[in-house]
Amino acid sequence: MKSKIFSNIIRRLTEIQKIADLSDKEVHLLLTPKRILKTQLKVGNEKLPAWRILFNDALGPGKGGVRFHPEVCQDEVMSLAFWMMIKDSLAGLPYGGAKGGVRFDPKKASSQTLEMVSRKFVDAFYKFLGQDKDIPAPDVYTNSQIMAWMLDEYEKKIGRHQPAMITGKPLELQGCLLRADATARGGYVIIGEMIKEFGLKKKGLKVAVQGFGNAGSNLARMLGKSGVSLVAVSDSRGGIFNKNGLDIDQVIQTKTEAGSVSAYADGEKIDNASLLKLSVDVLVLAALENQITRENADEVKAKYVVEIANGPVTYEADKILFSKGVTVVPDVLANSGGVTVSYFEWAQNRTGNILDREYLEKLLDKKMSASWAKTLSVYKEHGRKIDLRTAAYLIAIKRILAAEKLRGTLR
Ligand code: NAD
Repeated sequence: MKSKIFSNIIRRLTEIQKIADLSDKEVHLLLTPKRILKTQLKVGNEKLPAWRILFNDALGPGKGGVRFHPEVCQDEVMSLAFWMMIKDSLAGLPYGGAKGGVRFDPKKASSQTLEMVSRKFVDAFYKFLGQDKDIPAPDVYTNSQIMAWMLDEYEKKIGRHQPAMITGKPLELQGCLLRADATARGGYVIIGEMIKEFGLKKKGLKVAVQGFGNAGSNLARMLGKSGVSLVAVSDSRGGIFNKNGLDIDQVIQTKTEAGSVSAYADGEKIDNASLLKLSVDVLVLAALENQITRENADEVKAKYVVEIANGPVTYEADKILFSKGVTVVPDVLANSGGVTVSYFEWAQNRTGNILDREYLEKLLDKKMSASWAKTLSVYKEHGRKIDLRTAAYLIAIKRILAAEKLRGTLR
């Protein structure tokens, strides 16, 4: 299944080529990664495949997370790097797109192994990383501790401090106050804009959230407290459903104590496949890619799907949902709060300024609302005949191509 991600990106760009009247040369440039680094990290007796891919850097240094997961492959990292390129451009950030990954199961690894993998990742790629080259951050199953080990290894290699080479760091190592729930907060702002735009009412709005990690659990917490009815959540081990709404603080406590939301007592156990088909108003996808596919898209009953994960709706599923009148709020818009706060962190590290939480929250909310407004305006310019993803891509691609032209890469 995963090997099809990038081929779907190609199909999407072929479609966008017609709408935006792009030349073959422009499309070729947009679909060609600038640098693919691949190695194997020797950890104990094992050799773990690892990648760092810089997709495009016309707008600035590469930016994108590092994923530790047993199914990481080159096609996935390349697709994630492409989406970062689009996301960073749409958000108006001075970054290109990049991503990294290591194929192993971090859940089965000791803390010592996690540290060794993190350090070896930097050891392998450090010549290509840096505040003006390519800046990693957390992604699935990586966190601020892993960023701390990576920073430490990098600084040892270069023999001086350079905190801006990585974001999502702990506060003590010059991280940013908002980073822990940045993606969730950004998604929350976008859901608020969606509610306003489409005339929905928060009270009684039924919401289900797939994925209960950094992004999903923080967003579920914000939604649970906002007046909507959060009826279902899930993680990799299964989910929980209560038609009268879940007590989100209790669910978070269950997850902390038992390791999975599915151990929560006040509700019905459901599996991930069933959560996607629930009769809810809004379905939030915050786990992994390829969750709604052509096999299950017809069974989605939600009228609004919000992509907090990267790539959870496949190209074919997008078409089916569009034809059913389902609004999909795309990943490159809905989850851009994470990278936006990474930008705040990077800028703070570079200038030495430390900004307070209130200021950063306002700035993030403003930037998220501006991205929503831009996307909506292109969507409306096209008579609402394109989906929101296409609108977002049109804006992002225009900015990247303008930078490429100014640099003389495209003539
Ligand atoms: P995380 O590692 O903190 O959590 C991942 C969650 O997904 C876990 O709760 C896990 O149990 C769950 N999960 C895994 N497989 C699942 C499955 N098949 N069904 C249901 N749940 C499953 O990761 P995260 O940082 O929250 O990232 C989640 C998604 O959001 C990823 O696609 C990531 O790329 C995207 N994202 C995250 C950030 C961020 O800042 N954390 C930013 C942008 C995008």
